[in-house]
Amino acid sequence: MKICSVVGTRPNFVKEYLLNLELKRRGIREVLVHTGQHHDYEMSQAFFDCFALPAPDYHLRIDNSDALTFSARAMLELATVFEAEKPDCVSSYGDVNSTMAAAIAASKLRIPFAHIEGGIRAADRYNPEEINRRVSDVLADVIFCCTTTDVRNLEREGYDADRIEYSGDLMKDALLMTLSKYQIKPVRGDYHVLTLHRQENVTDERRLRAIIEGLVNAGRRIIFPVHPRTLRCMENFGVMELLRNSQIELCKPLGYVDFVRLAAGADKILTDSGGVRREAYLLHKPCIVLIELSWFPEISQAGWKVLTGPEPDQIAKLIRNFEPLGPHRELFGDGAAHQKIVDVLVKRYGG
Ligand code: UDP
Repeated sequence: MKICSVVGTRPNFVKEYLLNLELKRRGIREVLVHTGQHHDYEMSQAFFDCFALPAPDYHLRIDNSDALTFSARAMLELATVFEAEKPDCVSSYGDVNSTMAAAIAASKLRIPFAHIEGGIRAADRYNPEEINRRVSDVLADVIFCCTTTDVRNLEREGYDADRIEYSGDLMKDALLMTLSKYQIKPVRGDYHVLTLHRQENVTDERRLRAIIEGLVNAGRRIIFPVHPRTLRCMENFGVMELLRNSQIELCKPLGYVDFVRLAAGADKILTDSGGVRREAYLLHKPCIVLIELSWFPEISQAGWKVLTGPEPDQIAKLIRNFEPLGPHRELFGDGAAHQKIVDVLVKRYGG
């Protein structure tokens, strides 16, 4: 059996970590294709080094300065790879442009596409990730879901049951493995951790200013590993000024283990990331989500996450006062998503 795995961004590399090991353990040939969507050392190669991932069989290095041009070129170049490799299936993770390009290229060539981390839904159909997710789900031969809510989302939309698999979350697998391997124990420390990179938040000057204002006004120590796109926008909009004399400490994006260590020692997590909000929950951290995108509503329902728009007073108040309201229950599977996914792939495409 031969599988083509398409990766392109930081969260993809985290999800590839244990799946790659599991495929290797079972002697399954994986052709790893990196689109180059994320290309800075801290956003890409650092993860290959940290997880000892093999160098990609194909590194397409596609210019990512414009999202539509990137997606179109990724589709063309991925199709060329798939035609040459003739895999039994193509898989990709989550909701990035590389995922959508892989789904379209594979399906056009009649190669079954496996969408890992599908079924997540947000109300805003024009959110860039939502578009990628919906297209990838529609085209997928099989959709692996992180939660039973995501399964129900697909059922509600009329997806056939035999296309849906509840696997749990590869991000949980990677986190549990890392906590155990590096003996990291979550404690509530004296600082908060912030990540911010959603297009809606960082490319809109008014929103970005309002969020930063709220963060500064909270008057708490906040450690902020800054995504390259966010840094560019902050510099272009002159928002850096607001941070002078604040308690917000900027640093480069961290390697995965360093980030997990930092998050595990935080008091609260402030984020607009899809992955980091899950990690916050799994690390038992109150999480303030700085965007009105309700991915993984079960965390809010459990009382561990609260969403806010770009209102400075509200942001500052939540940072100071928000505490979890409910018991912590098991979410995102049992840490064995990588095994379940490979089981299903072998059964369906293993010949
Ligand atoms: N992450 C990291 N270093 C950082 C910030 C985040 O390793 O400085 C990891 C984090 O632990 C999570 C993943 O990156 O596993 C989330 O990626 P991101 O927030 O970029 O994407 P999203 O999940 O929003 O798609």
